[in-house]
Amino acid sequence: MSCPKCNSDDWKSASLVYSEGLTHVSVRATGIASGEPGGGIGTFVASGLNQTHASRLAAPPQRSSLSFFFGILTALSLFLCFAMSWLWLIAVLFCALGMFVYFETESGHDEAHESAMAAWRELRRCERCGTFYKPTE
Ligand SMILES: [Zn+2]
Repeated sequence: MSCPKCNSDDWKSASLVYSEGLTHVSVRATGIASGEPGGGIGTFVASGLNQTHASRLAAPPQRSSLSFFFGILTALSLFLCFAMSWLWLIAVLFCALGMFVYFETESGHDEAHESAMAAWRELRRCERCGTFYKPTE
């Protein structure tokens, strides 16, 4: 399967592009640590940004922060339970609801995240024009 845009057979996997970007940045950081004089830091920032941009384009899919929000809701419910003891019944109900939604979304996102990760591992980047594409398409 060649690039759908320019028909080039020269490709690199997105995961490799991503990890190469990370490696490049850390190598540059070591150069600064060894005490490179003058424009060393400027070079690092410019080069690091370029590489990070390419790496970021090829970055793996991120988890949604929705389950984190419900984690906060659960903690808030627990706080209410202690702060307003006369509302303990309502607080406990909220807490139970928060826990329920938290675990529901967590397991649901795991599946969605897994399939997104599987699709990402298949992803290729054309070395000629930089287009991301799946080999099956
Ligand atoms: Zn191409």
